[in-house]
Amino acid sequence: MGNPNGFMEYERQDNPAYSVKERIKNYNEFHEPLSEDARLHQAERCMHCGVPFCQAGVPVGGMTSGCPLNNLVPEWNDLVSRKAWKQAYDRLKLTNSFPEFTSRVCPALCEKACTCGVFDEPVTTRANEYDIIETAYAEGWAKPQPPAVRTGKTVAIVGSGPSGLAAADQLNRRGHSVTVYERSDRVGGLLMYGIPNMKLEKRFVERKIEVMKAEGVVVKTGVNVGKDISAKELIEQYDRVILCCGASQPRDIKVPGREAQGVYFAVDFLKSTTKALLDNGLRDGTFISAKDKNVIIIGGGDTGNDCVGTCVRHGAKSVIQLEMMPKAPDTRVADNPWPEWPRVCKTDYGQEEAASVYGGDPRVYQTTVKELIADDSGKLIGAVLIRLNAEKDDKTGRLRMTPIEGSEYTVDVELLLIAAGFLGSESYVAEAFGVERDGRTNVLTAYGTHQTSVDRVFAAGDMRRGQSLVVWAIREGRDCAREVDESLMG
Ligand SMILES: Cc1cc2nc3c(=O)[nH]c(=O)nc-3n(C[C@H](O)[C@H](O)[C@H](O)COP(=O)(O)OP(=O)(O)OC[C@H]3O[C@@H](n4cnc5c(N)ncnc54)[C@H](O)[C@@H]3O)c2cc1C
Repeated sequence: MGNPNGFMEYERQDNPAYSVKERIKNYNEFHEPLSEDARLHQAERCMHCGVPFCQAGVPVGGMTSGCPLNNLVPEWNDLVSRKAWKQAYDRLKLTNSFPEFTSRVCPALCEKACTCGVFDEPVTTRANEYDIIETAYAEGWAKPQPPAVRTGKTVAIVGSGPSGLAAADQLNRRGHSVTVYERSDRVGGLLMYGIPNMKLEKRFVERKIEVMKAEGVVVKTGVNVGKDISAKELIEQYDRVILCCGASQPRDIKVPGREAQGVYFAVDFLKSTTKALLDNGLRDGTFISAKDKNVIIIGGGDTGNDCVGTCVRHGAKSVIQLEMMPKAPDTRVADNPWPEWPRVCKTDYGQEEAASVYGGDPRVYQTTVKELIADDSGKLIGAVLIRLNAEKDDKTGRLRMTPIEGSEYTVDVELLLIAAGFLGSESYVAEAFGVERDGRTNVLTAYGTHQTSVDRVFAAGDMRRGQSLVVWAIREGRDCAREVDESLMG
């Protein structure tokens, strides 16, 4: 342990962000790393607890507490504090296939369960991870390492999101020949065409894909499995198939006027921006634009926030983010103690930017859309909003939201984005393979495994567990790869 008193000697120091005015000029990441000395001190703040919840990844109070990948957080914090970057990288790589992604986009379950956070600010574990992986690339340690021996076994993976890529990476390391099929024109799933560039610059996704290709993973883009190539062909051609197609069925809204032109699902909107950004620097007008428009985003969650940040960069006239539920408390309440996931109000980058540009938090709580209004040509021009009353259901303890009669009001809107969550996986892949699904359309697997109802066909990621997090997708891909490897090699 580098410095047993580090948590008393140093305060938490976050990576500084560029000012809103600067960062909304482009779609780049906007945090600067600390100096090496400052980073070592941040790592020294780790208390090396006897029971490190940060790496536990266990359910506490109905939600996961600590890292689902069981990252060996205290160990690599200690190594960083002693400037042993290579050893820290080796330790990090043991549990995490893609620190280059999690160190940018993970909500850092580790930090929410950090003991330092009981009375003070938690350790900057995610930023420490960022410095470990970026040092590894800078020093040439993250270079391709193809397996020395090939087993002659073949695996097809359908879907190139973090779960598919994690499974591909692990199985390739074991010497199996892996082919990843992706229907989109670029690899990465929601890492590429969901999470905006300012949270995860796409060159970092491409950098990792190049390493994996050099290690022997074959990637076929523009192939829609179940349409361009049949499930039967894949099952016949490969020893094993893993389905990692995500949970991309968005939840729609059912209101009069829904068919108006100018209503889109959030991921379609975000994807169109990223694709145009990568294809032509947003110059050819092929994307869904918020420029000079009044925008309503339905959904107060993280996807909604990504839409807010993107609309601000487009140059929207105004942005409202509607949230049905009441505002969460600013700090933990008594029945939500550490190390539970904190159910508190989080102001994310997009909301911060909108507040700075438009003069107020874009979130409007306990409100929803009652009706959409279109002009004679069918274009969206307005929305009737209605406030909601929150009542606690005595039996379930849950809040029941009911419309307040007479509270309706009308606002101008030319672009409406639906970020109301996801229902589950798309049917056609599951149907093509004949795998069973549950009531939520997630692919069913035998208890505690990733084996589907069809022999030699496995499933992982959001397609199996429902819309979740990158860190969980990586965990799913790794666990699934282990089962597939065992089933191939004994
Ligand atoms: C807008 C948005 C922002 C998010 N931000 C974050 C964040 O900041 N942090 C975080 O931890 N999580 C975030 N998430 C959640 C996270 O991105 C997902 O949980 C994760 O990507 C799931 O990984 P996956 O591999 O299971 O599926 P996906 O990433 O959805 O990838 C599935 C892939 O399968 C492909 N596919 C589907 N069907 C076929 C087929 N028939 N043939 C070939 N290919 C097919 C799809 O094109 C896609 O590329 C976000 C989600 C969204 C929607």
